[in-house]
This record gives sequence, structure tokens and C-alpha cells, in this order.
Amino acid sequence: IPVISCLLPAIRDRLAAPIWKLLQLAATEAQKRGWHLYVVGGAVRDLLLTETQDILLVQDIDLVVDGFHNSVEVGAGVELALIIQKMFPNARLSVHGEFQTAALLWHKDPELGSLWIDIATSRTEFYPYPAANPEVEASSIRQDLYRRDFTINALAVRLTPPREGELLDFFGGMIDLRSRQIRVLHANSFIEDPTRIYRAVRFAVRLNFELEPQTEDYIRYAIDSGIYERLRLENHPTPALTTRLKAELKYILDSHYWQPALKLLAHLDALHCLHSEIVLDESSWWQIRCISRWLQYLDPYNQLEHWLIRLEILIAQLNEEERTKIAHNLNLPKESIERLKLITKIESEVKDKLLNCDRLSHIFRVLHPYKFSNLILVGVRSPKKIRRLIWQYLTKWSKIQAPLTGDDLKAMGYKPGPKYKQVLDQLLTKTLDGDIKTREEAEVFVKQMMIEQG
Ligand code: ATP
Repeated sequence: IPVISCLLPAIRDRLAAPIWKLLQLAATEAQKRGWHLYVVGGAVRDLLLTETQDILLVQDIDLVVDGFHNSVEVGAGVELALIIQKMFPNARLSVHGEFQTAALLWHKDPELGSLWIDIATSRTEFYPYPAANPEVEASSIRQDLYRRDFTINALAVRLTPPREGELLDFFGGMIDLRSRQIRVLHANSFIEDPTRIYRAVRFAVRLNFELEPQTEDYIRYAIDSGIYERLRLENHPTPALTTRLKAELKYILDSHYWQPALKLLAHLDALHCLHSEIVLDESSWWQIRCISRWLQYLDPYNQLEHWLIRLEILIAQLNEEERTKIAHNLNLPKESIERLKLITKIESEVKDKLLNCDRLSHIFRVLHPYKFSNLILVGVRSPKKIRRLIWQYLTKWSKIQAPLTGDDLKAMGYKPGPKYKQVLDQLLTKTLDGDIKTREEAEVFVKQMMIEQG
């Protein structure tokens, strides 16, 4: 084991004091039971990567316990999580028995803030067939690290004595951190788990690293092997796989670096993991950037999930049947599946009707029945003329209101009834078309209409 130096002082100085105290308590409890405790993964990577001496803002810490335990059902990691929870009763505990892992979650804790600690029992993953869910068995820390995705994520720091603070770097993670490389641990990694392709891209772009050339070859090999066709062909692909793939897609499409990440995914042909016909050509690239600008302007408070709409633009390239299948396979939300299903129908309806409109009120009546989220998708996919009309409608025309409301009609002495809707509709039409501009004009119009209609 190459010993770099004792990292304990660095961890102590860079973590917020309550988090450091918690790790120490966990280490003491592990030590009492003869177990080893390690901090692994992203927290170690980020600690070694950031050069400033500021406090590291960690919200997510991965711990691994290496130790034998008598109980078959509960691994050492779960046992340790239970012990910590007794000391911190406001932590929420969830246990994934199958993988012998536990998670402790603090939400806006006055001391710890929002913190997520995963505690795993060191283990080897055994893949019974490619792209499947891992089965788990107890093993040593080296094997635990070997099942991880990239060398820079396979570093561990021991928290328990002897040699506490020692960096465990079995696979050259430090060298790759220094030379800024994303390097996979073994040739089959991407065959085993396609989400790692998305993770490779995410880390490369986020950390401004490069994909190590051999790793890039492995990615291309995995994609060319066609293994991911199963995602498309199977009606019910492994739920764990789709959940993780969706999580990675969300991570990427939600990030501020989604554009270079998407370009890199396309460059690697990795969008084929979703469907062999999904491409980032000039048209889809334009549409996805256009819809992002529209969303930024029209939905500044993120009432819609912007990452999902971007994904829908990519999926919308496919025919209706394939679209729906992918949306189901990825377990997208109901409204997303609905949008993808409706888009072609709305597109042709809107196109036909809008081209025959010569008044603003006509355009308004054509577009009014559709939901905002449907219209933006249709808008960015439509030819310029239609696109402009939809943009104008969304930014301006949809906000136009008649100068009078139902309350005003009541105040004018008219008895509430079904007539109200008719009158207000007419009033809106006249307002949209510029025939009525002021409240006074509106009142005159209402009086006239009421007289005419008895
Ligand atoms: P981030 O800062 O983005 O959260 P992270 O490295 O903590 O980065 P997580 O997704 O929280 O990322 O994963 C924690 C650790 O679990 C990783 O560092 C990696 O060692 C391991 N890991 C996560 N996903 C995979 C995967 N698909 N295959 C192998 N190892 C993985």
C-alpha cells in the first residue's frame, strides 16, 4: 500500500468541526469492535483536488467498514450506522439490507447542516450478467475499491488506527488526479454498468479532466458491442439500471455544464445508450439550446423540471411508438410521457390552424387550450413562422386580459349567470384585436351587448 502521508490533519482542518467530530466518533466505535473504517470516494477526491485551505463543503460522505460480523442479515456498516444513530437521534436512517449499506441523513441540522452519510460494508460486487444489478458479498477494502468506477474515485483514507490518516491508493488515483485523467479500473467496467459512461463524462466536464484514451476506447467498445440495445428492446429493463441511468441523465442535464457534457456524450455516441436513433445533430442541438433559453425566460422559478424538458427534446426525435417506450423504460413522470405522446398531434393541429389565422384573437383561441409545457416543446420544434407566433403568445399575448371582470359586470348591475362568460369572451376577443382599448370602451360594449341580447 503506497503511503502518501497522514491525511488526518488535512481532513480535520478542512471539514466543518461537527462533521469531523462525527467521523471521529464513528472511528472510535468501529475500532472498539475491531473493524476498520475508511472514508472513500468523492469526499477524498475533492479533498485532494482542491488546493485552497478553506473548509470543504461536503454534503455527501461515503464510509466503508471493513470487518467481520456475526450476523448474516446485518453487515458491519449497518451496525455502525445504528450505533451512530443512537448518538444522533435526529439522523434519519435507511438501510438497504441487500447491499449491506446504510444511509444516515441530517436535514438542516443546526450543527451538521444537511448531510448524507453512506456506510457500506466492504464488499466485492459480482455481476452475474452484464448491465445487471450487482450482488454483494463481504470482502476487503481493496476489493471494495476495485468495484468502483474510476481511479480518482477509488481512493480511501483510513480513519481507524493503526495508521489512521493513511491514503490507500491501489490503482494510481493520485497520479490521475495530478494529470487530470478519468481512468476506468478495468476493461469491462462499461459493459457491466452503462451509467459509468455518463459518470465519466460528468466528472470529465465538471472537473475539467480528460478521458484517458484507453478509457475512451473502452467506452466506444461497450457502445459498439450493442449491449445497451437491451435498454431499448426490453419492455422492462432492470429497474435499478434505469433508475441509475436516469439519475445520471438528470445530474448532467440539470448542471450548469450540461452543454459541453451533452456534446461529449454525443461525441462518444453515448446517446445510443438511450436509443440508437437519438443524435445530437444540428437541429436537436439547436432545439435543446433554444428551449433552455425559453425556459430561462418563461419559467425562471423552475416550476417545470428543465432537465426533463431537455431530455424530452432528445427523445422527441423518435417516432411516437419508440418515444413512449423509452419514456416508459426510463420511468419518466406521467406528465412527461403524456407530453411525448401528444407532441406530434399538437404540432399538426397547431400548424394547420395557425397558418389560417389572420387576427390575434384567432391565434389566442388556437393556442389557449394547450398547456405551457406542451407549447414550448412544439414551439422550438416548429418552423420559424409558427415558432415566432408561439413565442409571442407565450411572452405577450397569453397575458392580455379584458378590461372588465365578472365583478365589474356585477357592479354594473348585471345579474351573474351563463351570459357572463359569453360577454367576457367577446370582450377579450375585441381587446385582443385592438377594437377595445379602455375600460370606458369596454363598458359601452357590454351595455350594447346586453341590450342586443335582451
Ligand atoms: P459527487 O461529488 O458527484 O457526488 P461522488 O464521487 O461522491 O461525486 P457518488 O455518485 O456520490 O459520486 O458516488 C460515490 C462513490 O461511489 C463514487 O466516488 C464511486 O467510488 C462510487 N460509485 C458511484 N457510482 C458508481 C458506479 N456506477 N460504478 C462504480 N462505482 C460507483
